[in-house]
Formats: sequence, structure tokens, C-alpha cells
Amino acid sequence: MILELIGIILGSLVGAYIVFSIIILAVGGITRYRWSFNKILNITLTFTIIFAIFWGDYWGLSPDQTIIRYVPAIIVIYLFERRRLLTMKCPQCKERIKTNATKCKHCQSILFEQTS
Ligand SMILES: [Zn+2]
Repeated sequence: MILELIGIILGSLVGAYIVFSIIILAVGGITRYRWSFNKILNITLTFTIIFAIFWGDYWGLSPDQTIIRYVPAIIVIYLFERRRLLTMKCPQCKERIKTNATKCKHCQSILFEQTS
């Protein structure tokens, strides 16, 4: 029972992550990353949920089962990717700050613009 549940959770996370990654690359590629990551992520979230519902149908799951299994997994991945793509660690105090910040909100140190 527990093992089955872990299997469902892990399977949903891996499946949702693969679909999410493919869609984020597709959306980013089509727009050549000219859009902000915020916009790309929001579009990816929408497409991934729509895709998951059709995908669930393909695997013989009802829309209800798909929503229970995949939608929470997609939202977890969305929040994780959002945190990863839109934030970085302050080089001085190691607290998380926005990628485009010029001043750290935690330690007040001035940050130099990243060259890459
Ligand atoms: Zn700092």
C-alpha cells in the first residue's frame, strides 16, 4: 500500500517533470527566450496541465484521476523551477534573492551585474 503510493507519487513527479521540461524548452525555443522566464513558466504551467489531462486519457486514466495524480506534481515542479530560474544565492550572505537584483535585500550588499 505504502510502496504503491510512493510509486504513484514518484511516477507522477517524473512524468510531469519530463513533460514540463519539454514544454519549457519548446516555449523558450519558439520565443528564443525573448520573453521573461516568468511568462515562459506561466505558459508552460498552463500547457503542461492541459497536456497532462489528455495524456492521462491516453494512459486510460479518467480526468479525475489525472488531476489527483499529475496536477499536484506539475504544480510542485512549477514552484521548484520558478525558484530555480528566478532566484539565485547572494554571493555575500548566501540568502536567496531575485536573479536581476542589484542589491541584496538581506545583507544590503551591492551586487555586480552578471556577465553571462
Ligand atoms: Zn546578501
